[in-house]
Amino acid sequence: MSATLLEGGPIAERIKQEVAEAVAALPEDQRPKLVAVMAGDNPGARAYAKMQAKAAQEVGIAYELAELPEDVTQGDMVGKIIELNRDPSVTGIILLVPVPPHLNARHIQQVIDPLKDVDGVNAANLGNVVRGNMEMAPCTAQSVMELVKASGLKLRGLECVMVGHSEIVGKPVALLLLEQFATVTVCHIGTSEAGMLEAHTKTGDLLIVAVGVPGLIKGSMIKPGAVVIDVGMNRVKDAEGKTKMVGDVVFEEAVEVASQITPVPGGVGPLTTAILLRNTMNALRLQKGI
Ligand code: NAD
Repeated sequence: MSATLLEGGPIAERIKQEVAEAVAALPEDQRPKLVAVMAGDNPGARAYAKMQAKAAQEVGIAYELAELPEDVTQGDMVGKIIELNRDPSVTGIILLVPVPPHLNARHIQQVIDPLKDVDGVNAANLGNVVRGNMEMAPCTAQSVMELVKASGLKLRGLECVMVGHSEIVGKPVALLLLEQFATVTVCHIGTSEAGMLEAHTKTGDLLIVAVGVPGLIKGSMIKPGAVVIDVGMNRVKDAEGKTKMVGDVVFEEAVEVASQITPVPGGVGPLTTAILLRNTMNALRLQKGI
């Protein structure tokens, strides 16, 4: 068997188009504005900012990068967030991670006004996911759900296995699947330590993996015909010493067993920024009650 590719690019383009139309329908002085807050100059965070700025511009969302120095205090970071919370021209706020090690990112994210928390990372928005409300759910979790939808799988009663239980991917994805009456098994490091990972992954008609360990899921661990969504993004060196991006699933093996599979890169990745823009539009609607 050779699986069909489940690509994020075309879905991301459709979402961006929908956001662009919604933005264009608003009077110019009422359009969304997204502010990304960055402490220091981490290359990863800067790369995200560049990608977000370009995508925002494409759909007509104003984007500003608020840069604070590497040695900014936790208090000053919190102060900056409060200032943005109070600014009525700012409709979305995102903290770019990673932050310098002396800062507590979780606490800073917690200060973001839930109605402006377009990354869906504070407790109020994670709580909304428990209630099945996806409007401001974490972007990566929504990306996974878009790919599940594109796969055409009927989730009701389906055996789904989620490997990884992080706050921004594994846990919200498990809850969003439950919301659609799937039967959900969540695996994590404890499952591997108990030697039970393969026993569970093999039962999944839908297998989602968000761990950060390249090659964790081999072809033999996948149920034949399953749909596989690989969220992992790991930089590794190839045989010639060049850096490349791989997922958590051994793609060459999985593609022979699965019915549909996301490529890495090109699966979940391209969707995340598009969803951030959609969340920014949703935030504006929630703030204005429209
Ligand atoms: P995390 O580091 O917060 O959590 C990792 C999870 O994997 C935990 O639940 C842990 O228990 C589990 N785990 C670790 N080792 C394991 C093992 N040997 N067996 C089973 N489970 C194990 O992870 P995260 O923030 O959800 O990120 C996971 C991966 O997804 C990373 O590669 C990250 O780069 C990627 N990611 C991609 C996107 C995207 O837009 N494509 C977004 C977010 C994260």
